[in-house]
Amino acid sequence: MNIILAKTAGFCFGVKRAVDMAYQYQNTLNTYTFGPIIHNDTVINNLIEKGIQPIDQLEDKEINTLIIRSHGVTPQVYQTAKSKDIKIVDATCPYVKKIHRLVEEYFHKSYKIIIIGNKMHPEVEGINGWAHHECLIVKDLEELKLLNLEKKDTQYLLVAQTTYKKEVVEEVVLYLKNEGYHYKYINTICNATKERQEEAVEIAQKVECMFVIGSSYSSNTLKLYEVCKQYCKESYCIAQADELNLETIKSYSTIGITAGASTPSSIIEEVIQKLLRMNA
Ligand code: SF4
Repeated sequence: MNIILAKTAGFCFGVKRAVDMAYQYQNTLNTYTFGPIIHNDTVINNLIEKGIQPIDQLEDKEINTLIIRSHGVTPQVYQTAKSKDIKIVDATCPYVKKIHRLVEEYFHKSYKIIIIGNKMHPEVEGINGWAHHECLIVKDLEELKLLNLEKKDTQYLLVAQTTYKKEVVEEVVLYLKNEGYHYKYINTICNATKERQEEAVEIAQKVECMFVIGSSYSSNTLKLYEVCKQYCKESYCIAQADELNLETIKSYSTIGITAGASTPSSIIEEVIQKLLRMNA
């Protein structure tokens, strides 16, 4: 069996930075992360063992240090923490932070902000907060069309969730351009995501079966899976090695592996080792 492992599989820069920052505060009294620090249960459970629990509100708890998750939060979280004299460790990915700054700036210039993304995702909820929760949030062109946007007097700023599929965003940009809307588009898709998706496509075209390793609630993992499925019908999203169906896999001679941005290298290694053992 030939296994092709994507070079871009696993922790991206922003996730690695956030996890490293969190571990610096292990076993420090009353330290919490706001929301899960990243979308990976193994990492979150390990941090809990080291005394760092995720919380989603600042009331009812004695908090000395609050670590802000990589996906970022609304300005209200900073304000509340400040008013309670809580030390903030800001592990927001700098690429997400850049969107916060843009959205805040253009909101104050009276632009209407459009976010292309998943409205339930914490990153998008956080971004929305920097424009007083007044952003228009759409998942694709179809949803955007349903908004019947005002054309004459409104300036729009268009940004996207960092992990969004670039084709979906490009379709929206083209539509706004062709329909004559007044808009400014700033590309906020993270390069780490783009490179990971491009490499996944390249590998998926060459293999009989493709594994995307990551949590089912990680947006970039699911997008990666969708991209792979387009090019390799036998694509599977798994969270860890024990989800491998060895009977099915035996029939493949070439297997590709990639992993979401919040998948630790230890989990990727376990999957590879299990495949190799099976093949021995
Ligand atoms: S995928 Fe990009 S934006 Fe998201 S945490 Fe990683 S580096 Fe930051």
